[in-house]
Amino acid sequence: MSCSDPRMLSRGMFLYSNSPEYNIIRFMEQARNWLQSATSVVALTGAGISAESGIPTFRSPGGLWKQYKPEELATPQAFAKDPRLVWEWYDWRRTVIAKAEPNPGHRALAELERAKPNFTLITQNVDGLHERAGSRRILKLHGDIWRFKCSDCGRDWPDRRTPLPKLPPHCGCGAIARPGVVWFGEPLGEVWAEAEHAVRESEVLLVAGTSAVVYPAASLAPIAKSAGARVIEINPEETPLSGHVDISLRGPAGELLPQLVGHAPGLP
Ligand code: NAD
Repeated sequence: MSCSDPRMLSRGMFLYSNSPEYNIIRFMEQARNWLQSATSVVALTGAGISAESGIPTFRSPGGLWKQYKPEELATPQAFAKDPRLVWEWYDWRRTVIAKAEPNPGHRALAELERAKPNFTLITQNVDGLHERAGSRRILKLHGDIWRFKCSDCGRDWPDRRTPLPKLPPHCGCGAIARPGVVWFGEPLGEVWAEAEHAVRESEVLLVAGTSAVVYPAASLAPIAKSAGARVIEINPEETPLSGHVDISLRGPAGELLPQLVGHAPGLP
């Protein structure tokens, strides 16, 4: 199932039963009913949920930094070759993120966590906006841009300075520090098993703001589906997942998530 312009939802108007607007209301109602009756809910988010906070997504035209693609910078090989260049990109990203505020999409998920006895937020984002919106149980698949990790002794520590005074930063042991994020080609670690367990146990999986092309995160929705969960996607664009979910709602997470989780019994 898929549908078109979600902005029609908020306007009081007569709708024909075969119109796209009627369909989106029907799909939204269905999605709200599933959410309302579920006790075990998981949300999976990607860069798109922070787009309305002013943080460019990775694959949008505004996501380009200088002439580099993120995929060319976010690798252990790129860091080994030119740590200063990679750090310049992260320093720029940290500066953009530091100015951003959580948006209604982040806040709706924090409210959903408070309303549901068993709720897990799995995010691919490293920006920290979910915590700032009030989410508490978060599985960060790709790490945290506000932490550093020593490339030699493995120590990791928080650092929120923007811009950084010296690039690349160093650990107390003298080795170069790296951002506390997971790069392409690196394993996700223990968090992956927790994420997989959470989606297998979920009754409803909400997938918001991800292009669903980066693995293994992109496999969480198919895993949830095969374990019997209802999967609801929120994205203004069609993704490789769209044809395989139960409901695909087209629109920005900052508009649709509050509509989806707000003002219903059992929901915030
Ligand atoms: P993405 O940029 O690939 O996709 C963003 C998605 O959000 C798109 O499908 C887009 O249509 C959608 N979107 C845009 N605006 C939206 C809105 N307002 N509401 C809802 N959706 C919206 O981001 P992704 O899917 O998160 O990418 C996967 C992961 O790849 C990233 O989360 C990141 O962890 C990883 N990655 C990491 C690095 C790194 O530096 N470590 C670099 C590149 C990618």
